[in-house]
Amino acid sequence: MKIAKNTVVTVNYKLSDAQNNLIEDGRQPMVYLHGGYENTLPKIEEELDGKETGYASTIQIEPEDAFGDYDASLVKVEPRNRLPEPLEVGMQFEGMPDGDEGEEEAMIFTVTEIADDKVVLDGNHPLAGMALRFELEVVDVRAATDEEIAHEHVHGAHGHHHGEEDDGDEGDEFRSHPIH
Ligand SMILES: [Zn+2]
Repeated sequence: MKIAKNTVVTVNYKLSDAQNNLIEDGRQPMVYLHGGYENTLPKIEEELDGKETGYASTIQIEPEDAFGDYDASLVKVEPRNRLPEPLEVGMQFEGMPDGDEGEEEAMIFTVTEIADDKVVLDGNHPLAGMALRFELEVVDVRAATDEEIAHEHVHGAHGHHHGEEDDGDEGDEFRSHPIH
């Protein structure tokens, strides 16, 4: 079966940066609904469209087609007492960008530094500003169910499970873009 709109694609992947430093070894395959549902990066869909099981390729995606350029204005220093304890570098919080041009969307902030009574919060996506190199191998293609098409995401193994807590797997970052 060829990859086309409303097929569910299972892809083994390895994600590196442009210098070939491994970012993710893709222990779990990425499973997404193909056809512009923003389940994965558009450049990945473009690369795989019309391909079949067994197709393998390596593509490099520039920041503007991935998670955007790094925006230094999204880095904030907050008093530590405004944040919950215990606090660790790498923890993430959802918050509103205070006073930013009427932007309504909540942002994910990552704690990047803790010093005495101050905390540095970075609102950039962890992969912002990076060119991403994906090694891709298509391992399965199937027709999506009507329900999956209606929900605009994959159900079942590795897909979306209704009523379950997010498992916090970092590998989900580019499978569900934007983060929600
Ligand atoms: Zn659903």
